Order: sequence, then C-alpha cells, then structure tokens
Amino acid sequence: MNHFTLNLPPDSEGFYGKFGGTFVPDILRPNITALKEAYLKYIDDPDFQEEFDKLMRDYVGRPTPLYYAKRLSEKYGTNVYLKREDLNHTGAHKINNAIGQVLLAKRMGKHRVIAETGAGQHGVATATVCALMGMECTVYMGKLDVDRQRPNVERMKMLGANVVPVTKGSATLADAVDVALMDWCENPDETFYLLGSAVGPDPYPQMVARFQSIISEEIKQQLLQLTGKPNPDYVIACIGGGSNASGAFYHFIPEENVQLISAEAGGLGANSGKTAASLTAGREGIIHGFKTMVLLDDDGNIEEPYSISAGLDYPGIGPMLAHLADTVRTKVIPVNDDQALKAAHEITALEGIIPALESSHAIAVLDILKFKPSDTVVINLSGRGDKDLSTYLGIPVNE
Ligand SMILES: *Cc1c(COP(=O)(O)O)cnc(C)c1O
Repeated sequence: MNHFTLNLPPDSEGFYGKFGGTFVPDILRPNITALKEAYLKYIDDPDFQEEFDKLMRDYVGRPTPLYYAKRLSEKYGTNVYLKREDLNHTGAHKINNAIGQVLLAKRMGKHRVIAETGAGQHGVATATVCALMGMECTVYMGKLDVDRQRPNVERMKMLGANVVPVTKGSATLADAVDVALMDWCENPDETFYLLGSAVGPDPYPQMVARFQSIISEEIKQQLLQLTGKPNPDYVIACIGGGSNASGAFYHFIPEENVQLISAEAGGLGANSGKTAASLTAGREGIIHGFKTMVLLDDDGNIEEPYSISAGLDYPGIGPMLAHLADTVRTKVIPVNDDQALKAAHEITALEGIIPALESSHAIAVLDILKFKPSDTVVINLSGRGDKDLSTYLGIPVNE
C-alpha cells in the first residue's frame, strides 16, 4: 500500500501559501536540489516503501496503539483516544522520520549523517538509526542543552554518535541548526543532513510530513475498527517545529469536519516575552532557510524562545502548520508551562502514563476547550516522559 499519499502539497517552489520556500546560500542549492530529486524519486518506489514498512513494524513497533483513555474521558465528559507514539522504539515519533531519511541517504550513496537536536530526542533517534544502518553520525547540540539533557547525550554516545556541543549564540537548538547547515555547506558530497522536524528549506517540510503521515494513516484505520467511523471530531497535537502534528493531521486535512488543534508552547504566557508561541506571538520572517512565523524582536532579530519543554523551544514553526493556521484550518492554542505540568500529573494519575513534557501541552487542551459527550477526541501522545522526570518532580537541573 502507498503510505505517502500527497495531501496539501506545496507549490513547485515549496511554498504553502506564503510560507516555506528555499532561502539558502547558493553553495547549498545543489545539495537541496539533489535531495529533492532523490526524495521525489524514492518516496513512491515500492522497494523503498517495503523497507520502510518492515522497519516500522519489526524495529519501531508499529502500529502504535490507539488507546481509549477511560478515566480521562470520564473526567472531561467526552471520548478521549491517545495515539501512543510514546511506545515507539526510542520513545517518540522522531524515529519515523529518522528511518525514512536514512533509507533515502543510503540510496543517495551517502555514508555520513549529520543532525541537530534540542532536547536530544531527534539526536537519539538519528544515532539509533545510524547504528542500525552502519552510518557515521554527528549530532550538533547547543552546549546549554548538552548540560541539561545528560541522559540523552549519554545514549547518543553509547550508540556511537559524535556529539558536538555548540557554544555560539544562545547555545540552544536554533544555533545547533545553524552549525549543522554550515557543516553541510562544507561537506556537500558525502554528507546527508537528517533534519528532525517539518522545518527548513523545501523539500524537508513536505518530506518529513509524509514520513510522519503514517500516524494519521493508522489513526483512521484504528478509529474505524474501534468506533465504526474513520474520522474523529478533533485531533490535538503539540507543535514545536510541527512534525508530530503534521503526521497526526495529515490524512484529516481534507476532512472538513475534523477539527485540527495545534497546542503551541506558551511558556510563561504567549504575550509575556518568555514564550515559544511563534504562531500567536510571531511575525513573518525567515529562519533556517524558509519563510514562516518567527519570534522577532523590534529590530527584526530572532528572539530567544522559552518553554519549559526543550522539544518545543523553537522560535519558528513548519510552513505547512503556519499555512494551516493562516487559513484557519487549524485552531492554535497557546498552552503555558503550568497548564502542561498540571496535565502531565493528571494523565499520570488517571491513566498511568507519564507523557513527554511536549505531549503534555496537547493533553492540557482537554482543560482549555469544551468537548461534547458525543465527541471523539484524538490526542497525539508524541513521546514518553522519562527524560522529563526531574522537571515533573521539581528537581533543579544543572544549567
Ligand atoms: C521533538 C518532540 C516534539 C516537537 O517536535 P515536532 O516536530 O513539533 O513534533 C514533540 N514531542 C516530542 C515527544 C518530541 O520529542
């Protein structure tokens, strides 16, 4: 079966409405062109899909369950289903994309993979898949993140990755992306840049969304089995760069009766200046090779984002999500740190599931919107919370 149906394609230049495109130095153009050609060639190739399928099933553990959360449903007087991406190998949805891109890198004859990472989840997924495929792996990570995400740094090292701390700028995710892009400029021939979210220059946003679209493909089949109807009333996902949301929304975008809810990281409040809510508080701008909504200061410089969740702490947002928000196809809800923390403790107490801090932002929407008793509400539980225990328990981290 074809996993990668193209819904809502960007135009030939990679624009979704006014967002997206390719804003890169000339030196990167040939890399981007070669990547786009290879991606378009292989994504519909039956051998590629078969290899992807097998790894998804036998290595990642897909399909992930769609779980009816009975006690959470009772509490909110509606029907809540959790899509359990936290049960994937390595503990989040990131591995779906990492496998897709590494399979592509192999077919392009590349032997060296580079990646950026914030909280370390994408770095761990990339290091894992590189070990599996025998590829050389370098992960760029802000020095600040290296210090506050020790366990993930150690996992990457165990998996054989070279973890490079980035000290420039604010020493966090956005700086790690800059340095990864510089590496790619300097080593265009042998290197594949494995980008971790639905961001960056075209074709990354569309490619990542299609690899992640397996999430909504499964939700449709599972809902049909569980409820007799393939479409829910709501799909809720958190948005950092937008990859888990793109995947969870993908096959529902043409279904007008399905409401798509994007939970962005409000931080201390979307208008507090300490936020990562780029759709609510941002303006049009260019970041990391594409046009989108960006947190900018009065001089037009990219502002330092803030969220309690390292995986949502990004000053931009993928162009497909920016377009869905601009056309009001998705409703955007800023969720603040305290609301996410409360949701995390609640789902842990009611369902025995410790969610990633990122995913907690999606769960918090249950307490913000009003749902009907007849509604079917699917929440994409993008990852597990092992990495966030010290935050949940209020243990100070070494910064
Ligand atoms: C990285 C991450 C996110 C945010 O990234 P998206 O590209 O927006 O999905 C969300 N949840 C978890 C568990 C993550 O690891």
